[in-house]
Amino acid sequence: MEETPTAAAKLCDFCGNPVGKGRSDKKYCSEACRSEANNQNKLPEYIPAINNILVKNWKILKDCLGDKEMCKMRVRDLGGRGFNFKFTTAERINDGDGDCYYFVYDMGYLLLDQETRVLIVQDDTMVRLTGPAYPV
Ligand SMILES: [Zn+2]
Repeated sequence: MEETPTAAAKLCDFCGNPVGKGRSDKKYCSEACRSEANNQNKLPEYIPAINNILVKNWKILKDCLGDKEMCKMRVRDLGGRGFNFKFTTAERINDGDGDCYYFVYDMGYLLLDQETRVLIVQDDTMVRLTGPAYPV
């Protein structure tokens, strides 16, 4: 038989903090979180649609990189996997050489060879970046 989680262990559906004491079906830690969660449910349809594209793009970059530190591949092969080049979360400039990396969360790529190939990297640790973090 499953144990009912204690009030202390139960986490807010919105922010992830403990919900604290209250009704057993309490979902949020505060009125602010309950309100924000309700507001997010009212987002226009294109926002979750774009979020889905970003997640798909992230998964494709992650999958291409595998457990390597970086990898190169043809732009058309990346596109062939369903990568949508219109949607990224940030553009970051490499401090050293001025190269512009496009990031989808922590997965980034740099266009190479007249934009026929990409260099895929994970995280900012691969390049020294300046400019705005997230979002653009
Ligand atoms: Zn909360």
